[in-house]
Parts: sequence; structure tokens; C-alpha cells
Amino acid sequence: MTVRGRLVLYVGPMFAGKSAHLIAAAKKQTDVLALKPGFDTRDGAELVSRDGSHLAAMSVNTWPEDADLYGHIVLDEGQFWVAPHYQGDIVEDIRDVRARGVDVTVGGLDTDYRRVPFDVMERLREDADEVIVLTARCHVCGAPAVWTAKTHDTGHLLETGDQELYEARCEAHWTLPEQS
Ligand SMILES: [Zn+2]
Repeated sequence: MTVRGRLVLYVGPMFAGKSAHLIAAAKKQTDVLALKPGFDTRDGAELVSRDGSHLAAMSVNTWPEDADLYGHIVLDEGQFWVAPHYQGDIVEDIRDVRARGVDVTVGGLDTDYRRVPFDVMERLREDADEVIVLTARCHVCGAPAVWTAKTHDTGHLLETGDQELYEARCEAHWTLPEQS
């Protein structure tokens, strides 16, 4: 018997391949709805990984009413699904669709650039059937990296950016951003 309504989480620092794993998971099925936070307009209505794979996605800031018509929901940037970017409680919304048999896969950062855990990701982790912890390569030495570092302080905690703003770092090379 196939168990439905599973929650799988891919967590790790930036540059760990989270989006690539989400896209690969989504492409195994046909009735998939991919979601990304409404304010994250970097790639239009698509999930895009750094290895070049991509998947059509809906940018939302409320839970889609037809979500339970799908068999599998894939949600990227889990740490951003909080007020004011998202209206509602994403943890409860995911519980509701799982209760109706929908599988959910979430990717996200487990900690911010200060190494402080994202509360919403901690809550999802408590609910998850499976948590896959991914590592990146340290930008300085190439060792496995579990932390995200910000290269300069912008005064914003939740901020999208790429290599101009963030780097993956190992334990030895993680630092807080220099004050500008
Ligand atoms: Zn290092």
C-alpha cells in the first residue's frame, strides 16, 4: 500500500542543491503543483536550480484553493513562507493537504546567515516524515559546508540573493558579515 500525505524536507545552506532535488522529486510525477513565494521574482514563475534544471511554478502569498486537486506539492524557499510575505500558517496549510492525501516536499534553509534556525523550518521538521540534510562546498576551502554566510551586511534578515551576497561556509570559515 502506498502511503500518501507524506512530508519530505530538503534542508541545508545556500548552494547545497535544494532546488535541484525538489525539481527532480517533482519530475517523477505528473500531477505536481510547484509553489514559490510571491515576492521571490528572481526567476519568474519557475523553480530554477543552479545546475540548470527548471520547473514551472506558481508564485503565491496565500495557499492555493485548488491545492488538494494535486497529488504532490513542491514548495521552495520554505524559510520565506512567513508574514508579511505569506498570509496564513504554512505549517497548518501543509497539514491540511496532507490529511487529504497530498504528498508535500519542501526545500529551505535551516538556518539564516547568523546560524539562527528559521522557526517555520523547525516546525516543518517536527512534522516531516523524512528530512534530507544537504551540504554545499565551503566557498573558502571546499570542505562540506553546512552554514550560509553573508558577504556584507545589508540590514535585512530575509533577503534573496545569489553569489554576490551569500556564500556557503564550513564550520572553520563561517563568519558574520562585516559591518558596512
Ligand atoms: Zn572552509
